[in-house]
Amino acid sequence: MAASNPSVQTDLRPEVLVVGAGLAGLSVAWWLRGRARVRVVDMASQAGAEASSQNAGMLRRLGEDPYERTLAQRVHTLLSAPQAATFGDPMLSRQTGAVLALAHDPFHLHDAVSGLRARGIRLEALDRTRLAEVAPAMADAPVVRAWFVPDERVVDAGLLVSALMRDLRNTPGCSVTLDTRIDALDVHAGKVRGVRTSDATLAADRVVLAGGAWSRHLVEPHGVFRPLIPLRRTLVQVRGPRLGAHHPWCWIDDVGVYVRPEGEGWLISGCDEAIDAPSQLASGSRGPVGETERALALDKVVRWFPALADVRAVGGWTGLRTFAPDRRPVLGADPELRGLWWCAGLGGFGVTCGLAAGEAVAAWILGESVPFLRDPPAVSPGRSFFRRWPIRPAGDIARMRLVPVR
Ligand SMILES: Cc1cc2nc3c(=O)[nH]c(=O)nc-3n(C[C@H](O)[C@H](O)[C@H](O)COP(=O)(O)OP(=O)(O)OC[C@H]3O[C@@H](n4cnc5c(N)ncnc54)[C@H](O)[C@@H]3O)c2cc1C
Repeated sequence: MAASNPSVQTDLRPEVLVVGAGLAGLSVAWWLRGRARVRVVDMASQAGAEASSQNAGMLRRLGEDPYERTLAQRVHTLLSAPQAATFGDPMLSRQTGAVLALAHDPFHLHDAVSGLRARGIRLEALDRTRLAEVAPAMADAPVVRAWFVPDERVVDAGLLVSALMRDLRNTPGCSVTLDTRIDALDVHAGKVRGVRTSDATLAADRVVLAGGAWSRHLVEPHGVFRPLIPLRRTLVQVRGPRLGAHHPWCWIDDVGVYVRPEGEGWLISGCDEAIDAPSQLASGSRGPVGETERALALDKVVRWFPALADVRAVGGWTGLRTFAPDRRPVLGADPELRGLWWCAGLGGFGVTCGLAAGEAVAAWILGESVPFLRDPPAVSPGRSFFRRWPIRPAGDIARMRLVPVR
């Protein structure tokens, strides 16, 4: 499988079957294309229909987790200096810069800031005057720290999905099958031999679980517990002062509120988190905005972004961010079910990290390594988790709640 073989045929048994055509699954398949026969299967009628079309599209390298940061940096490189024509479309991602700020806790992001500085990433600590110059939306914002990351980007996740799909459909040996739900893994003597749909068994040498919020359900019948927990989050579309499409996106991390220019206004979130579970049917995970979550987002904007105090809500949606309890991605071979691989748990950073997560998983399947992620056990699906984990119902780190891992 390691050798490049452009003559591979789609009608042959796939070497790798990927469950899920979101950013995670498509990325794994994209990196395997031309090197293995790959089939991606999704229950939705179009690719990227779930979390991959529900996000705010911010590529954020200033993450708390070092593995998230290393994946984010790799994706930033892929998109900002594209070697592959796939990522060359200027509409696919663009540099806007970002402001990351803290309202109370001056140390919350210091590890992340040092991590970025150590990588040589441009980062400017801002005083109040510079903050208002760089991000007029943050004029008079009552924050205690702020950093400008001028090279930060936004990504059009829909265009990214389309670009990956186009390449896969044009590569012999690759196929994407939609409207097909995988009901079960086909397991024999501890080895995954393929998957089952309602009317067929699809054989494959390896299966990659990239099913986002649904991933864990396929292994639980085999006594394997992989706690990937979906948290619902709200995005509210607002109209208000237009400060330019190239205004940096701004995130006050400790209280949990962000604003991102979008069309005629802004996309805002109060960073709410509520444990949720997607329907087992292919009815989708996108939801309507609740009154409480809309009020949370608007109240936070009024309080922390005085320059945007007059915004009014015009729409929005909710979606599922699916995390492992340590909020680190779940990547690599499953230690309990041979032949099963994971590319999941991309939580709130799948746009930021998905392409690189897929690259790592594809390389490991091919028996290779990637220079940016040299510690596969740290992201292994079989790693241990605490029995309780912190969630932030109102987005604020000062009001975290410890909940059981189930
Ligand atoms: C409100 C919100 C805001 C976000 N903002 C950002 C952001 O600004 N920046 C960022 O980096 N990330 C953000 N994210 C996170 C990002 O969108 C996700 O991490 C990413 O899309 C996850 O991709 P995925 O492929 O793992 O999951 P998904 O996109 O959910 O894909 C999983 C796919 O698997 C399919 N599937 C599942 N089970 C089966 C089955 N049994 N049979 C067949 N098909 C199956 C589903 O139909 C689905 O298409 C945000 C997410 C949300 C919800």
